[in-house]
Amino acid sequence: MIVVMKPEAPAEEIDRLSAEFREMGLAPEKIVGKHKTVLGLVGETADMDALQLQDLSPWIEQVLRVEKPYKRVSKEYRHGEPSEIVVPTPNGPVVFSAFAPVVVVAGPCSVENEAMIVETARRVKAAGAKFLRGGAFKPRTSPYAFQGHGESALQLLQAAKDATGLGIITEVMDAADLEIICEVADVVQIGARNMHNFSLLKKVGAQDKPVLLKRGMSATIEEWLMAAEYILAAGNPNVILCERGIRTFDNQYARNTLDLSAIPVLKSLTHLPIMIDPSHGTGKSEYVPAMAAAAIAAGTDSLMIEVHPTPSKALSDGPQSLTPERFDRLMRELSVIGNAVNRWEAQPVPVLA
Ligand code: PEP
Ligand code: MN
Repeated sequence: MIVVMKPEAPAEEIDRLSAEFREMGLAPEKIVGKHKTVLGLVGETADMDALQLQDLSPWIEQVLRVEKPYKRVSKEYRHGEPSEIVVPTPNGPVVFSAFAPVVVVAGPCSVENEAMIVETARRVKAAGAKFLRGGAFKPRTSPYAFQGHGESALQLLQAAKDATGLGIITEVMDAADLEIICEVADVVQIGARNMHNFSLLKKVGAQDKPVLLKRGMSATIEEWLMAAEYILAAGNPNVILCERGIRTFDNQYARNTLDLSAIPVLKSLTHLPIMIDPSHGTGKSEYVPAMAAAAIAAGTDSLMIEVHPTPSKALSDGPQSLTPERFDRLMRELSVIGNAVNRWEAQPVPVLA
């Protein structure tokens, strides 16, 4: 149940009402929006009558029942207002939201060594990225493939962060590594293969760092939103949903089918910000620019793009990685469409040598 308060409702009345709901055995969550405050009621509300609840205070504007299985992630839970996830980074706060410029996250699939991660960080920062991505713990289909350098790669990510001030996004596969990952990561990534790992979802929900939740490769939108619900239900409201391509019948030309229709669908269902990953979504670097541009046109709030200094030598996902030069050119190309939809941060004018 969602209790929408009138815009001028006094704070004491909202507190009094929250206490009354708690006495009724419900857990009210106060969501303060730009214009209104909403109380989300979690608990046994099936038998409750919305009209009776409305009578509890003249400051209640409306009581709504959320019919969907996901509650906290539903659009209704914030009364239609998109979330804003503010991530502090050494370069300043970065906002993931429908109200903010598109945030670009870039970097290699895996952290391979200090020189490559620091160089990539410098290059993607110069092109306009706000976050560096790079896997330390890699989920690989084959147990014989490069598994990532693990804990030592976290130190290399820290070195890249120190050198550039970029925020860091890296994947957690095992809850046992969460603490050390959170020492360097500004956003923790749950990969596609772990979207259904409910115990891991609960663990990232019980800590403070924002979570990037990738869509499982065969997950429906509803399963994906229910996975996000696990994280919010465990106490962490800061979840970014990342579409990274799904399995369809044809993988001859593209690795996955990038479901760009997820953008308008998610916008109609949830307040959470959206990220599109055209690198894993297509599996081929030559297809990445078109899908990145299309994602911005369709309203994505952020992008994740794999960039490697020498893609042909990459230890993972080389074929889908852009060179730093191509990434730089892509950012200029994207600025045209980004400006057209009013979602592009003004770039500093490059100084000519
Ligand atoms: C990655 O981001 O490198 C990755 C492994 O992604 P996904 O979980 O989408 O396959
Ligand atoms: Mn990858």
